[in-house]
Amino acid sequence: MLAAEAGTNNSPLLRSGNPNDPIEMLIDDLSSADQSQERTSIRADLAAVAVLVARAIEGVEGLTRELRRNRPVVVLTTHVAEVVSVVAKVLQTCSFGLEAKAVDSGRSSHTSSRSYFLSERDGTASDHKPERGNDGISHALHARIPIVGVAPDPRRHLPRDLLRAAEYHLSLGQLDESAIALVIEAVTGTHPTAGIADQIVRAADISDLVLAIRAGRSANDCVARLEQVVATKGTFDHRGPALEELAGYGAAREWGLNLVADLRDYRAGRLGWDCIEKGLLLVGPPGVGKTQFAKAVAKSANIPLVSTSVADWNAAAFLSGTLAAIKSCFAQARKLAPCIIFIDELDGISDRATLTSEYREYWTQIVNLLLEQLAGVEDRPGVVVIGATNHVDHIDAAIRRAGRLDRTIEIELPDADTLAQIFRYHLGEILIDVDLMPAALAASGKTGADVEAWVRRAKSHARREKSELSLDGLLYEIRSGRESLPKNLRRACAVHEAGHLVVGVALDVFAPQALTVLDHGGATRVELSRANSQTKAGIENFIAALLGGRASEEVLLGQSTAGAGVGEHSDFSRATNAAIDLELRFGFGAIGVAQFSQRATEMLLHDPSIVGLIKQRLDRCHSLARDIIAMNRIAVEAVARRLEETGYLDRTTIGELLKQYPVSAHDDPTALSQKTELAH
Ligand code: ADP
Ligand code: ZN
Repeated sequence: MLAAEAGTNNSPLLRSGNPNDPIEMLIDDLSSADQSQERTSIRADLAAVAVLVARAIEGVEGLTRELRRNRPVVVLTTHVAEVVSVVAKVLQTCSFGLEAKAVDSGRSSHTSSRSYFLSERDGTASDHKPERGNDGISHALHARIPIVGVAPDPRRHLPRDLLRAAEYHLSLGQLDESAIALVIEAVTGTHPTAGIADQIVRAADISDLVLAIRAGRSANDCVARLEQVVATKGTFDHRGPALEELAGYGAAREWGLNLVADLRDYRAGRLGWDCIEKGLLLVGPPGVGKTQFAKAVAKSANIPLVSTSVADWNAAAFLSGTLAAIKSCFAQARKLAPCIIFIDELDGISDRATLTSEYREYWTQIVNLLLEQLAGVEDRPGVVVIGATNHVDHIDAAIRRAGRLDRTIEIELPDADTLAQIFRYHLGEILIDVDLMPAALAASGKTGADVEAWVRRAKSHARREKSELSLDGLLYEIRSGRESLPKNLRRACAVHEAGHLVVGVALDVFAPQALTVLDHGGATRVELSRANSQTKAGIENFIAALLGGRASEEVLLGQSTAGAGVGEHSDFSRATNAAIDLELRFGFGAIGVAQFSQRATEMLLHDPSIVGLIKQRLDRCHSLARDIIAMNRIAVEAVARRLEETGYLDRTTIGELLKQYPVSAHDDPTALSQKTELAH
């Protein structure tokens, strides 16, 4: 009987004195067969596999005897490819006796009574498939010798006839605490008295046992080493940030935090597995932190992460190898459950609908296996799947169907506030009192991965210079050699942004947040006030604020740059669109309360009289802006000068400047109606 199974950790199993104990037989046989080690010691992987094989065999009534005396046909599922050869070795050595001879593929026609047929396929070779090797099976059946097949997934890897003839289906179990203790005892000669933490047991692989459990060590030492070995594995690498520490991620962050809470309830038995959202497809450009997200969720939930990618799977030379890799990933995940499996570059699995028939057959097998594995996640509790892709439209529709990765969340490029927080995260305590918004604004359009790289470079630069990291040093890295604006353009830019600010504030269009002058131009960040945004006057004031940049250049500098007109989101295009809306869509124009469709609007814009109406309104707003600039010239100058110097004004600084130089839309208190009048 399996003495260790009873959980009596201290039972001297190897000396149980029962020669029929299959584990004892296996380990004894192995100890004497393994000549590379001292006589009393065996390799940990062999011992571990021996224990697992023994348990599998022992689980079937009478099979031990059958194997030695009769000619059973046995199939053993290993679930993972790596152990197939070790299992074969163990079987060869133990179950059939050392004199036994493996006959393969029917090459030998002379079969003694001690021969047996072993089909050992780990799925990594091109002929590890059902239609290969069936001749050998008929030969072995005819010769009446025992037949054993070993594979991660027999139905996929072993000869079809072997499966059809199989009388016994065995499955290699997982290492549990008593199995690991047995291995330690087999290798070191003593049984550990220390318990092994559940998390360690679940995460330990046979290859970890080989590293941790050695003949020269004490049993408890082996346990301690095993903990170290497992702790440094990627799956338990919780060194990065937890989800709570990270900025950005929008809806994904919320999804992750919910999952963390749900998993806590699940483990406490308060929530069923079917209530948990356990499949997520993350979509976003490279560098926005999809991989980091999966790690952070795992850390927050304190569960292991199995990290893989379609590229990893495809690294195998043959389809069978790819399929084996997929299976072994999911097998590992199931073993570690509860855990997260992260699959990067999911778009590497092409959409079958777009494939030519030549490749379709190949990919169909891969997609089908993945679907099967994803579906399996449903009934094997504890495995959360997070997939990541840069191109959501390349993903096979079936993968996103209900019960698989049925939730898709897009991670967008971080906005300025998020970038500032990401800078803060990577800088830690460095520049702790410094407002990082200038860096964030200079980094606009870039990703968290860029931020990380800049901070790293700025730090190492400062180290080489033996100086403290400064904001300028950081900005230098962000610019990475890009020229900053020439002096005259920088001045024009500052005047331009100050113009937006002053007109917008004077007309109550917005509350300013920040002004910047960067290498590629300036920016005014504002919070639009909603109060007036729906009225005719409010929208005209908004147009005036948009044109305030250009107006300011004209009034203060006597000339202007083209900056206000460049691009789809330029000041001019936004102003023009607003004017068109007022005229043709919001019912505030000469035509009255009419609303034209987009198409009709486009056609009407070919009519010179309509264009004339729009131009008149823009001109009116433009001159309103010029008037306001002229009236508040001192304030515009002050703001522009400060902006030119520092490149960045935050809300507080802007507030102080405006307190010092109050702005208004009318220079004379008696002309109170001027604002509205001009906006007519
Ligand atoms: P992806 O998988 O989307 O290509 P990664 O997860 O590999 O992106 O991100 C690369 C690096 O960028 C991370 O290791 C991290 O340092 C940094 N990073 C990305 N997004 C963020 C973020 N929101 N906060 C902090 N760091 C981030
Ligand atoms: Zn502008």
